[in-house]
Amino acid sequence: MTVSRTLATYRLPPLPTIGEIIKLFHLRAQKQLSQNFLLDLRLTDKIVRKAGNVSNAYVCEVGPGPGGITRSILNAGAKDLLVVEKDIRFIPGLQMLSDAAPGKMRIVHGDILTFKMERAFPSHLRKAWEDDLPDVHIIGNLPFSVSTPLIIKWLENVANRDGPFTYGRTQMTLTFQKEVAERLTASTGSRQRSRLSIMSQYLCTVHDCFTIPGRAFIPKPKVDVGVIHFTPLIEPQINQPFKLVEKVVQNVFQFRRKYCHRGVGMLFPEAQRLKFTERMLMLADVDPTLRPKQLSMLQFKNLCNVYREMCDEDPDLFRYNFREELRQKRRGKSNLDRSSKQSDE
Ligand code: SAM
Repeated sequence: MTVSRTLATYRLPPLPTIGEIIKLFHLRAQKQLSQNFLLDLRLTDKIVRKAGNVSNAYVCEVGPGPGGITRSILNAGAKDLLVVEKDIRFIPGLQMLSDAAPGKMRIVHGDILTFKMERAFPSHLRKAWEDDLPDVHIIGNLPFSVSTPLIIKWLENVANRDGPFTYGRTQMTLTFQKEVAERLTASTGSRQRSRLSIMSQYLCTVHDCFTIPGRAFIPKPKVDVGVIHFTPLIEPQINQPFKLVEKVVQNVFQFRRKYCHRGVGMLFPEAQRLKFTERMLMLADVDPTLRPKQLSMLQFKNLCNVYREMCDEDPDLFRYNFREELRQKRRGKSNLDRSSKQSDE
């Protein structure tokens, strides 16, 4: 009890402000890397509070940059903070923070898209999936161009219980461009309902914590930013392989504004499209004239289950890609045009 109170009230010694660190180390934000910094420590504290109780926890911060969120994590009493930063210019400033918090911070100069998080923390932290949440958190304010592919990768890791989820149901608190944040949390029927809504919500409880106005960042991005918290579900809402769910969801949302049968049809070769689409929608109990955004999670689950049965009956079906069929058709047609032109000559 005494130990945790001591850690919870941990305070970094006086340090230059983030603004001073930026000046000291000449850390001008690079536009091409979409670097936008948070200098207001009340905001970075709020992000860390939304992550849950990080006192005494093991935390991975992605893209620490000049270290605003990093300070808030250390001040919140994290036991072990691992930061992964791609831009080498930030390492000396982060080293200064690490020196101010001896034994608490590890710095990795690397790319979070390839970093192996399964080896980052001690194995005694691992918890069974059904158990309480492990004492491992991921927190980050990444460029928008990285956060979307990264969350797709980590959702696949959640489905397979590997990567950062070898420790159990590791929680993530990440920032996204407001529009993407809305898609991640959108409910059935809402305008923002999309592929990302289904892919994130079938695997996690997804919570929109708060919005940071663009003006809070230096330099100011064109858009506001949403802070999203993800907790992996014990039981995913769809019990099929990630790649299969991804394929069904991607195809259904192919034609967002059309009836859902249009997108479902793209799962099948043209020759059987009508028959198979009718069968799939009928067995899944889905009205073909619903729009993709109107489909509930249960209906996506049914669609995935029926598609799985159809793939089990015909293993070639899963490999089918309508774009490939279109490409081959076009190639065939241009070959035909070329040979008829030659025979005319
Ligand atoms: N977290 C800091 C803040 O809130 O002020 C910086 C945020 S800035 C939007 C994103 C940071 O992520 C930059 O420091 C950038 O260099 C880093 N970054 C970008 N891509 C990365 C990647 N693939 N792996 C690790 N860090 C990355």
